Amino acid sequence: MQVPIFTPVRQYLNLKEEIDKAIQKVLNAGNFILGEEVREFESKVAEYLGVKHAIGVASGTDALQIALMAIDLKPGDEVITTPFTFVATAETIALLGGKPIYVDIDEKTYNINPDLIEEKITEKTKAIIPVHLYGQSAEMDKIMDIARRYNLYVIEDSAQALGAEYKNRKVCTFGDIACISFFPTKNLGAFGDAGMIVTNNDELAEKIKMIRVHGSKIRYKHEILGVNSRLDTLQASILLVKLKYLDRWNERRAEIAKKYNDAFQNLDGIITPYCEPYNKHIYHQYTIRTEQRDALAQFLKERGIQTAVHYPIPLHLQKAFSYFGYKPGDFPVAEQCSKEVLSLPMFPELTDEEVDYVVKSVNEFFKINKD
Ligand SMILES: *Cc1c(COP(=O)(O)O)cnc(C)c1O
Repeated sequence: MQVPIFTPVRQYLNLKEEIDKAIQKVLNAGNFILGEEVREFESKVAEYLGVKHAIGVASGTDALQIALMAIDLKPGDEVITTPFTFVATAETIALLGGKPIYVDIDEKTYNINPDLIEEKITEKTKAIIPVHLYGQSAEMDKIMDIARRYNLYVIEDSAQALGAEYKNRKVCTFGDIACISFFPTKNLGAFGDAGMIVTNNDELAEKIKMIRVHGSKIRYKHEILGVNSRLDTLQASILLVKLKYLDRWNERRAEIAKKYNDAFQNLDGIITPYCEPYNKHIYHQYTIRTEQRDALAQFLKERGIQTAVHYPIPLHLQKAFSYFGYKPGDFPVAEQCSKEVLSLPMFPELTDEEVDYVVKSVNEFFKINKD
């Protein structure tokens, strides 16, 4: 049996009629840039999250960059974040001349360790970017408390966590700004790149809307430096169809995660995802930890099961960021996790038979490899 870690095709085929119709409507209307579907999707996401403003942009990465431009990040400014995330989180800080100041992660949740944040704050600190990794919220009470005391912006990197909750409140609603990605693999995935920025702050919203169209409100009148980063009408039309199913899909992910958790509970040598009791985890990834990571990945590959490592190199050790001068050993928990984490197949359209096959195969590996 072949089990992919992810495929968008099954979801498309399930919704083919609805999606084809939506695409055809945009093709017929020809309003490809900031068309009606973009506004409609923005208002549906705002409603879903309970926020005032949702602004569609071209990708999750652009969402982060524009958010940092909106808070006026200047060369030399410092932004506190996690080294255990996708590159975009720190790349956008660095592109604007800022410095990512990393804080090691919590060993259980893989999210930024809030107890280590305060000691990293300097007079140059401008913002904190917590990442809700794998679909589980970061420790928002503690993070917001620190941000308030030191007057720092908080930008939530919610790329992996649309629909996740912290203490019965949706992520994206805690920080000054939140950034969402609709990259095809994300829980709400477009048919290409797409992203969104949400905020309750009117002033920031106004600025973000200008930045996404070259810093202008009126065509050819440019008040601030901006970029070209709009959410395609075509992508918005597809996402409008899919948004209705997001909660159902997230529930199915949680159901699959529970199957995996129950099945691996008594296996020695494997750590299943830990979820804080007050968190609603949406399992963007189902990521386990084991010292035999590479051998397990190889074993599963030979049985047709795809896996992935999120992420094999923590950001402070990436070559692109070497000029910041971080060294191995600076963030030991993130470094250890990068050697031991493994993501198993996880998407709502996985069949029970496929999940059972993954479970059986993982069990087999640990039976053979017991010391
Ligand atoms: C996917 C992702 C991004 C970037 O989103 P794109 O839409 O791919 O640009 C940023 N941060 C995290 C944590 C992500 O997982």
